Amino acid sequence: MKSFSPRILALGAHPDDCEILAGGSALLWARKGAVVKFVSVTNGECGHHAMSGSELVARRRAEAKAAAEVAGIESLVMDHPDGKLVPGLAERESLMRVIRGFRPDLILTHRPNDYHPDHRYTSQLVQDCAYVVGVPNVWPELPPLREAPVIAYFRDNFQKPTPFQADVVVDIGPVISEKIRMLACHESQFFEWLPWNGRHDLKATDDPEERLSLMEKFVRHRNAPTAEHRSRLATWYGADHAAGVEFVECFEACEYGAPLDEAAIRRLFAVPASGA
Ligand SMILES: [Zn+2]
Repeated sequence: MKSFSPRILALGAHPDDCEILAGGSALLWARKGAVVKFVSVTNGECGHHAMSGSELVARRRAEAKAAAEVAGIESLVMDHPDGKLVPGLAERESLMRVIRGFRPDLILTHRPNDYHPDHRYTSQLVQDCAYVVGVPNVWPELPPLREAPVIAYFRDNFQKPTPFQADVVVDIGPVISEKIRMLACHESQFFEWLPWNGRHDLKATDDPEERLSLMEKFVRHRNAPTAEHRSRLATWYGADHAAGVEFVECFEACEYGAPLDEAAIRRLFAVPASGA
C-alpha cells in the first residue's frame, strides 16, 4: 500500500489561527506520516491588552513552537506586522518564498471574506501566489513549483457573499485531547487576551484544570458538526460512524489551486483511505 506522505502548508494570519482551524487535522496528518507546517503570516504583536512589541512577539513565537511540538509539526511565525498586513508585492514575495521553499501538495488558508483584515489579506496573498508559484520568471531565484498545489479554505461562519461549503469534513475526535493541549499552549490568547477582548466565551484563569475545561468547551462549540457535515462524513466514514462524530474540521476548495476531487481528498486528507 502506498504510504501517506503529502506536504501540507497551513497559512493563517496569526499565531493561533492554524491551530484553531486545522490543529486536529495536523495531528492526524502527522500521525499518518504527512509533513505539516503551520505558518503565521503576521507576528501577532497586537494580540494582547497588557503586552506589546518584541516581548509579545517572542512570547507568541514560543507558544506557536510549543503547540507545534504537541503535534510533531513544523512552525513559522513571519515578521509582517499584526493588524497591518497588506496584500502588496513585498508580502506576496515573502509568501512565495515560503511556498516554493516548502513545496506543498496542499495549502490551507482563510476565506477571502472575513471580519479581520489580516485574515482577508492572508487569503488574498495566497490567491495571488496560486498561479505565479509555478511561473519561473516571477522571482527566478527560487525554482517554481511544477505541480500546482490544491488550495483549501478553513471553516468560518460568514454568510456573505457565500456561506462556507464543507467540501472536506474530517473527524478529529480521535485527537481532540491533543488539539485541546495544542490550543492551551497559546496562553497569552485563550487565557488572557481573548477573555479581555470579549468576543468568545473564555475566562482569564491560571488554574491548569480550568484552562483545559475552557478549551474543551471552546472546541465543543467550534468543532461541532452540522447535519450537512454528517452527511458528508457518511461518504467517507460510513453512516454509523458519522452519526457518532462529535468534533470535525472542515475545508472548502479554492478554485485557484489544483482540483479538490475525490482522488485528491483521499491523497491529501486524513480521511479513511477507501471511503465508505
Ligand atoms: Zn487570526
